[in-house]
Amino acid sequence: MSQTKLVSPEELARQDEYAALLHEYWIARRQEPPRAFVHTYGCQGNEADSERLRGLLARCGFGFCNSAEEADLALFNTCAVREHAEDRVFGNVGRLKGLRQTRGLRIALCGCMVQQAHVAEKLRRSFPFVDLVFGTHALHRLPELLYQMYAGGRRVFEIADTPGEIAEGLPLRRDSAFKAWLPIMYGCDNFCSYCVVPLVRGRERSRAPEVLLEEARGLVAAGYKEITLLGQNVNSYRSGDYDFPRLLRELDAIEGDFWLRFMTSHPKDCSPALLETMAAGRHIARHLHLPVQCGSDRVLAAMNRGYTQAQYLALAALAREYMPDLRMTSDIIVGFPGETYEEFRETLTLVDAVGYASLFTFLYSPREGTRAAAMPDPVPHAEKVRWFQELTALQEAKAAAGCAALPGKILRLLCETPGKRQALAGRSEGSQMVEFDGPTELIGQFVHVRVTKARGWLLDGERILQESPCPQGMGAIKHTP
Ligand code: SF4
Repeated sequence: MSQTKLVSPEELARQDEYAALLHEYWIARRQEPPRAFVHTYGCQGNEADSERLRGLLARCGFGFCNSAEEADLALFNTCAVREHAEDRVFGNVGRLKGLRQTRGLRIALCGCMVQQAHVAEKLRRSFPFVDLVFGTHALHRLPELLYQMYAGGRRVFEIADTPGEIAEGLPLRRDSAFKAWLPIMYGCDNFCSYCVVPLVRGRERSRAPEVLLEEARGLVAAGYKEITLLGQNVNSYRSGDYDFPRLLRELDAIEGDFWLRFMTSHPKDCSPALLETMAAGRHIARHLHLPVQCGSDRVLAAMNRGYTQAQYLALAALAREYMPDLRMTSDIIVGFPGETYEEFRETLTLVDAVGYASLFTFLYSPREGTRAAAMPDPVPHAEKVRWFQELTALQEAKAAAGCAALPGKILRLLCETPGKRQALAGRSEGSQMVEFDGPTELIGQFVHVRVTKARGWLLDGERILQESPCPQGMGAIKHTP
C-alpha cells in the first residue's frame, strides 16, 4: 500500500475561496443560486463520493432538485465497471442535449468512467454540449472547476492521472439520516485481470484511524443506526499500526445502538483475526460479502484472484465455525474469457457448497486497458447467457430454501423504507429484507419482527414488541420460545 498523502490545508482553503467567488458570481449576475441534480451510477463508494459532491455544491451556493429537467446543473457521477453502465451514461447525457440548447442546462460528468482517457476523448469530440468533465482525483476541486466553467465561460476537462490523495474535511450532505457510508480506504492494488478499478481509482490508500473513529463517534451521537465501512478492498485497510481487524475492534467499542457493516472484502485479506473480531463484536453485523467471482482454479488464476476454490471453501467454513449464524453473499462473473462449461460448472459446485444468502451475478464485460480484455473469448454471448440463467436458477432455489425456514423466527430489523406489499420494509443484520405493517415513524428505527410468510426470497412479518437485546451482534435470528 502506498503512503497516504493528504490534500494540503492550503489547497482546501483555495477551494473555499473559489466557492466564495461563485457566491459573488451569482450576486453580480443578480441570479438566484442555481439548482443541481446529482445522479450516481455504480457502487456505494460512488454514493459516498456524491455525498461529498453535494456538500461542495451546497458550499458553492447550489440548491438541489430531483431531475435534470428542473435543474441548472446536471452532474453525473459515473461508473466504469461494466460496458452497459457506460452506454447508459452516454444515452442519458445525449438526451439532455435539447435542455442544454433551450435553457442553458449545464452538464457535468465525473467519476471512474471519465477517468479513462478514451472516454474523456469521446466526450471532448462527440459531446460538445458537455461542459465539465473531471476524474476521480479531482473531486475536491469541484469549486475551482465550476468557477472556470461559469466565470471562464468555457468547457473544462480535468482528468489528470495524479497519484491519489485523500481530501479530509470536505463538506458532506448525507442521503440518509440513519444509514451512513464511511469510506476508510480508496483505490486497489490487486489488479484482478478483468477490473478497471486500479486504473481509475489509483493505488490503495487508507484514511487515518483517529479521523475515522471521530467520524464514527459523531455519526452514532447524531443517531445513525448503521455505519458501512467502504473500500474497494476494505479488509486490506492499513494505517500505521492499524490493520482492519484493529480498526473494526475500536469502532465496535463505541457505545450506542448501531450496526457496523463493511464492503467489499477480498478473500485473500480475510484473516482469522478478522473473523474472530466479527464473532466477538457487539455491533458488527453477521454478514460477510466475500466475492468469489468463479469456482474454477484455472479461471481464478487467470483472473489473478490469488486463491483456489479449496482455499475459498476453507475460509467460508472457518467463518461459519466462528459464526454459525453468519450470512454470506458474493459476486460472480459468468463467461470470463476462455472459461469452458466444465469450468463454469465448478462455480455451480461452489455456490451449492457455500450456500449464499444472495449473489450479485454478472456477465463478463471487457474493459479497455485490462489484461482480460486482450484474452481470446470464443464462447458466444448466447451461451454465456444460458450459463448465467443456470446459476440464477440454482441460487434462487437455494435462497428460497433458506427463506422457507424463517417463518416463526424473530428478526431484529432496521426499518428503512415504505414497503411494496406492506407499509414498511426493514433489513436484518444478515441483510434479509422483511415487510411488515407499522407507522412510518418507525423508519430509521430498530424493530423486532416475527417472520410470518416466505414466498421465494420475499419475506413478510409482523411487528412484535420486544426489548432490544442491544448491544446486538449475538446473532440476528432468535427462535421463538
Ligand atoms: S480486488 Fe480486484 S475486482 Fe476488486 S477492485 Fe481490486 S482489482 Fe477490482
